[in-house]
Amino acid sequence: MNETAVVHRAAVIGAGTMGGGIAHVLALAGLDTVLVDASEPALAAARVTIEKNLARQVAKNRIAEQEAGGALERIRPSTGTADLGDRDIVIEAVPEDRALKRRVFDELAGVVAGEAIVATNTSSISITELAAGLPGPERFIGMHFMNPVPVMKLVEVIRGLDTSDETVAAVHALCRDLDKQPVDVADYPGFVSNRILMPMINEAVFCLMEGVAEAEAIDTVMKLGMNHPMGPLALADLIGLDTCLSIMQVLHRDIGDDKYRPCPLLGRYVAAGRLGRKTGRGFYDYATDEAPS
Ligand code: NAD
Repeated sequence: MNETAVVHRAAVIGAGTMGGGIAHVLALAGLDTVLVDASEPALAAARVTIEKNLARQVAKNRIAEQEAGGALERIRPSTGTADLGDRDIVIEAVPEDRALKRRVFDELAGVVAGEAIVATNTSSISITELAAGLPGPERFIGMHFMNPVPVMKLVEVIRGLDTSDETVAAVHALCRDLDKQPVDVADYPGFVSNRILMPMINEAVFCLMEGVAEAEAIDTVMKLGMNHPMGPLALADLIGLDTCLSIMQVLHRDIGDDKYRPCPLLGRYVAAGRLGRKTGRGFYDYATDEAPS
């Protein structure tokens, strides 16, 4: 690959909070997009969410109704990876679990074309480590989108030890096609975004656990006092508490400093299945009117 590769056909693996959003922006930019999930209900839920979010963009006059319809038509759901041989790029967005991601990449290695780019949306795991032993580490890269993907401009671009300049250039070009701003960051645990954001969220959970203030008060302090658009606990509910816990565990393990120790209360919420918005309950209860908007 000497010239910047042009990406027309994409696939996204994992149709959850992030994968659905990534498929949304790819299809809206005109890419033919396969959305893969191991779970049929997850694929059905992703379609409903994508349709709703496209309709919201139409209502705000950001896109035309025709564009929304076209985008939806360009997303093909699938429960398997077998037919991804014609994809120019595959973006992985399965849960933040090292072993699970490696299984997905091992499977993809036997399926994708030799020149296809394989990207991961991991929040914190080393790109070099995820690429180790794969057939094409020069075509492996981190593309860290932000939540909610259709709204947030940033994509952190993370190269592993063997990622080629051509792959970086192709991913930058794709980001621009998606109307996103790519920012290059080094392959360190949590990159920049979660190295800074997650310890703040974790500290907010410590404040809650130690009774410094109630959840609403903690969030109000950060919104009105620090001009944050959302409080850290409401943001944790949006991200998913399981994802927050996994990221803190990676920071703690891979940086090896106890200042990244996950708050025990965060672990308890995850153990109880209170994962935030996606399960209807986290620090706030989304079945009641008291939940933050
Ligand atoms: P999620 O739990 O909402 O969705 C994950 C999806 O992957 C589920 O639908 C699940 O059925 C599917 N899945 C699991 N195993 C699979 C497999 N083997 N093959 C295909 N599909 C499979 O998770 P999420 O919040 O979308 O996070 C996905 C990735 O994005 C994680 O690495 C996370 O750290 C990262 N991320 C999350 C956020 C966030 O705010 N949630 C932001 C940036 C990056």
